[in-house]
Amino acid sequence: MWTYQHQRFRVYQIPVLRDNYVYIIEDCHSEVVLVVDPSLAEPIIQSCNKLNITPTHIINTHHHWDHTDGNLELVQHFHCEVVGNMADAQRIPGISMAMDVPSQPSLTLGALELRILDVPGHTLGHIAYVIDDALFCGDTLFGAGCGRLFEGTPTQMWSSLQQLAALDDATQVYCAHEYTLPNLRFARNVDAENTILKQRIHTDTVSRRQKQPTIPSSIALEKQTNPFLRPLDAEFCAAYNQQSAATEQHLQPLDIFTELRQRKNKW
Ligand code: ZN
Ligand code: FE
Repeated sequence: MWTYQHQRFRVYQIPVLRDNYVYIIEDCHSEVVLVVDPSLAEPIIQSCNKLNITPTHIINTHHHWDHTDGNLELVQHFHCEVVGNMADAQRIPGISMAMDVPSQPSLTLGALELRILDVPGHTLGHIAYVIDDALFCGDTLFGAGCGRLFEGTPTQMWSSLQQLAALDDATQVYCAHEYTLPNLRFARNVDAENTILKQRIHTDTVSRRQKQPTIPSSIALEKQTNPFLRPLDAEFCAAYNQQSAATEQHLQPLDIFTELRQRKNKW
């Protein structure tokens, strides 16, 4: 477990299953404790006991089992509420606070103000939570990658990623999986001259060798190195178009994103 101190809350990062991260957010000014996307209950119960804290809410980003399978047991154990997207009320076990997204864009719990972003793409009902300078984005944005499009269209995912990229540069990106190193290998393939990317590959490789997480990253770093955000950069797009000069038409950012997502699927 790793701990990150923010100004008004603490984040505990718990690795579970093969490569999932579950986060516990402890409000420093109230009794509110949030669990983000519990894949399982048991390791979370153990961590909470060790920390001597009691979850008051589960907040889910989307309905997939590796984000919600711990819900019911945690509710039974801690009598906590379950926050999720109303659109996925049938698919999120134990949901008790169904948010009407996007018309209900925020939620105050204790001293914490949660901004809820509607980010369809990986699933149609995927949402992300922003608390001050922390982003909990589930399977939408990953370290140097993005989620697969299981339910949404490339257009939806591209607009969701743009929403996240528009957050403050210093925002810490707490995503739900440790996929960064394989993602970086793909990134190197499409963005070979990027020196910040080369540095990141070095830093993150060392971290993983030392069994440390590469997450959280930051919005600034993702904009500079994540191939799925790089289409926001005009120079990247120009270079991309030059490389694929065989096709005569000039690809727009959405086209490049779409093509990269397809290439990654086959990679
Ligand atoms: Zn998922
Ligand atoms: Fe997942």
